[in-house]
Amino acid sequence: MQEISQHIAERLRTLRRAEAWSLDRTARETGVSKAMLGQIERGESSPTVATLWKIASGFRVPFSSLFEPEAVAPDAGATGAARQAAPASEGDAAGMSAVPLFPFDPALGFELLVGTLAAGAISESAPHAPGVVEHLVVVEGELEVRVDGVWRRLAAGEGLRFAADLPHAYRNPGPEPARFHDVIHYPRGAGGSPGVASDGAISAGSTSASGR
Ligand code: MN
Repeated sequence: MQEISQHIAERLRTLRRAEAWSLDRTARETGVSKAMLGQIERGESSPTVATLWKIASGFRVPFSSLFEPEAVAPDAGATGAARQAAPASEGDAAGMSAVPLFPFDPALGFELLVGTLAAGAISESAPHAPGVVEHLVVVEGELEVRVDGVWRRLAAGEGLRFAADLPHAYRNPGPEPARFHDVIHYPRGAGGSPGVASDGAISAGSTSASGR
């Protein structure tokens, strides 16, 4: 975990330098306290997945870019083989871990994360950047997802598509760890979110067509 903390520390410093943001400004943009940002930059803290998301959203960068310095282009021919990159955390204080399986692809505007949530755990998420949409499919166990105040329970094999620019949360009601795949779609620019109503309407099982 030490190595990951150091990597995140470096990424955060690089992002701040690129934007020329002070710690004050960064705290305002991300919603992460100045004290916590300082700890992360010094490699003294293993931030939770929720905190990492706040940082990514504040800087308007994909989550997986915190771990992959360069966007990874698919290999020629066959698509890039799925691989488990270094985990964001092996279960943070909230019992959540998130691992980029397919890191962000700028041409396609998405990344695929593998999430694991410990039995009985709950992980709260602040809104992601405007227009970000999550397509979450439970692989093992059971998961409850709250979007805009409404909880929905998903069994293995069930999916939920939701506007992730609203407050949301993940909860594991079961006795076993819940594992899920989460395709995160980032719109081009800061525009709207195709296929998802502005009120955050949710479609289960993802049968709705999506625009581009
Ligand atoms: Mn989220």
